This record gives sequence, structure tokens and C-alpha cells, in this order.
Amino acid sequence: MPENYFKKFPDKEGFYKEYGGAFLPPALETEMRKITDAYYAISKSHNFISELRSIRKHYQGRPTPVYYCNRLSEKYGGRIYLKREDLNHSGAHKLNHCMGEALLAKYLGKKKLIAETGAGQHGVALATAAAYFGLECEIHMGEVDIAKEHPNVVRMDILGAKVVPVSKGLKTLKEAVDSAFEAYVKDPVNSIYCIGSVVGPHPFPMMVRDFQHVVGIEAREQFQEMTGELPDSVVACVGGGSNAMGMFSGFMNDEEVDLFGVEPGGRSMKTGDHAATMVQGKPGIIHGFKCYLLQDEEGNPSPVYSVASGLDYPGVGPEHSMLRDMKRVNYDMVNDKEAIDAFFELSRFEGIIPALESAHAVAYAFKLAQKDPRKSVLVNLSGRGDKDIDFVVENYGKDYGLG
Ligand SMILES: *Cc1c(COP(=O)(O)O)cnc(C)c1O
Repeated sequence: MPENYFKKFPDKEGFYKEYGGAFLPPALETEMRKITDAYYAISKSHNFISELRSIRKHYQGRPTPVYYCNRLSEKYGGRIYLKREDLNHSGAHKLNHCMGEALLAKYLGKKKLIAETGAGQHGVALATAAAYFGLECEIHMGEVDIAKEHPNVVRMDILGAKVVPVSKGLKTLKEAVDSAFEAYVKDPVNSIYCIGSVVGPHPFPMMVRDFQHVVGIEAREQFQEMTGELPDSVVACVGGGSNAMGMFSGFMNDEEVDLFGVEPGGRSMKTGDHAATMVQGKPGIIHGFKCYLLQDEEGNPSPVYSVASGLDYPGVGPEHSMLRDMKRVNYDMVNDKEAIDAFFELSRFEGIIPALESAHAVAYAFKLAQKDPRKSVLVNLSGRGDKDIDFVVENYGKDYGLG
């Protein structure tokens, strides 16, 4: 890794080598440039840093612990550790960047946060942040997703956010993105668009990574304090890639630490049955930035699927795309079945019910532990599984001795 990795990537235009950038209509380009300039100035100020620190500690409950899995390490060999982002307030890592984005909005004098949501996780985290700061919050969501993800819609309602139903096209995430962008472009002075992962046009991949960096910094220090060494391997699931980027960024300069990004292999390797962007994707442009992309011959994003709805994105963060080419991070897959197995294993051996997204990373850690029992594996447990329990029991309960 270049010594000055974080100074070098992204470059001034928001590129990570050939990936990233901001491919936007001129009106939005100006807005993004304003946000970039403001971010550079504000995020380095003493007031911003100390306010964010205080929020992390007193509101979010950070630092989250690192936990050694006694029984699973015994079963699979190796030494398996979890960074417990499931214990972060609101139950996942997403609040780390939502609080950062909302704090930036406050410093910029914005009144309203706008975003899209697929399964509703980003919507709930952003609605939480908006309530904390007393900002308005508008979440665009496809009507199909609204019907499917009822509990999260109720959560957003209770938190005081306005959920805008989107009835165009397939009525899912892609249309929700278009709708949220349209709303934002109408009033970029009073509102700010808050992206839910390390994706989208510059400066979002960089900002979201910086706000998630806390995960990797904490985990590195905690792991060293517990064991006197660094982990041999670090594992995280990759949808857009925010929890992985936060974790990996803490170990970027530790060449001896192997980094593993785990994508969803879904139910088969046919188009539309998985979201393994790094395995089957090619460079392309989606949502205003360049990255590895699952696409058809014309460059349109392919349909994607995973049992974990937070992982089913046809693109991936630009920094991940670069790290793949550099071979600094190894990208691999875990399928639905393996993730569901890991969901039950972690629940029954350690008393921790993981999010289905996080269960992909856990399943991969089992494989690494089995491969070389001398090694230690640190997993980013990105979220808790309460949101998934009804779905899992209904669809897989019988196979695991339930109902
Ligand atoms: C949204 C989500 C993810 C996927 O998002 P990334 O940006 O890839 O981290 C992973 N885990 C949980 C619990 C999520 O809610």
C-alpha cells in the first residue's frame, strides 16, 4: 500500500484509480462540488470532530466491543472474533455514517435530509439521525418494498420521517433512487441527499468511508489489547461496501493482515440469482460513479438477488473496485444456504442473532478457520438479526427444527 494511502485516494476529482468520480448533470455537479468543499473544511474543524465524538460515545454507545467466540472457535478451529456493530444504537453500522451526514447537514444549515431506501435499513438509520438533530426527513421507497418491509416503514413513521411511496417502474430501489434525486434537485439549498453506502458520486464514497473509519480504528486497537497482535484475517460482507470499508480502512497499511470482502452468491450463478459484482461484473457506470457492475450488453444494470436484501446491489463502491484490482482485498462469495446456516450457528453457539447480511461474513470466517486453525479471524458483525427473524422462520424454520 502506498504510505500516504488516505491522502492519495480518492484524488481531487474523487477517483480511486479509474473508479469513482462524479458523472452528473451540470446542476448537480455544482452542488456536489459545494458539498465536497464544505466537507473538507468542516470535517477537520475542532467543533465538528468533538461533537461527532460525543455523539459516538453518549448516543450511539461506542466503542462497540470486540468479542471472542469461544464455542464456535472450538467447533471450527482457529480463533474467531466479532466486532459487535450489532450493538451500535439502532442495531447496525449504518448509524455511523448517518449521524456524520446529518451533523454535516446541520453545519451546512440544511433543513431536510432526503434519501431512498430499499429494505428500509438506511431509511430507519437516517430517520433516527434526523430526529436527533431536529431535521426534516424524507425517505423515498418503492411500493413493493413498502409492502414487504412493513416493520421498517412503521419505524420511520414513529421516528417522524415522511415516507414517500414510489409507484413508477418496478416500484423498488432503482425507482426510489430516481425519485429521491428528483426531490433533492428541486431544492438543493435547503436539503441534502444522504447516501446509504460508499457509493454514488464523489464526495459520498469518501465521506461515508471516513464516517465508518471509526469501526476499523476501534477494532484494531481492541484486538491488539485482547491478543497482543493483529488479526491474520479480517472479514466483512459487501453490498455497497460501507461496513467493509470502515473495517478495512483500519488495517489498510498492515500488509500482514489479509482482508476479505464477501459478496452474496444468492441461489445460483445465473443472472438475477445473485449479486456477486466482483465475480461476474465489469467496469461500468451506475448512479453517477464508475465501479465494477453487473450489467447487460448495453451497460444497463442487471437484476440482482440475495436472501439478504441489504446486499443486493448491482454495483459496488469505487474504492472496493480499486482494491480488487490492486489485490489488497480478496473478494469471494457466500450463498444463501451458507448464510442461513451461519445465522443459526451464531445464534445457537454464541447467543447472538446476526443480520442476514452479516451472516455472510460469519459463514466465510468459518471457512477460513477450517482452512487454517492456527490463524485468527476478525469479522465485522455489521448488524443484528431482529429484522430477519420472521422471514427466516417462515422460509427456513423447518430445516432447523422449528414449527
Ligand atoms: C445495509 C447493510 C449492509 C450492507 O451495506 P454495506 O454498505 O455493504 O455495508 C450490511 N449489513 C447490514 C446489517 C446492513 O443493514
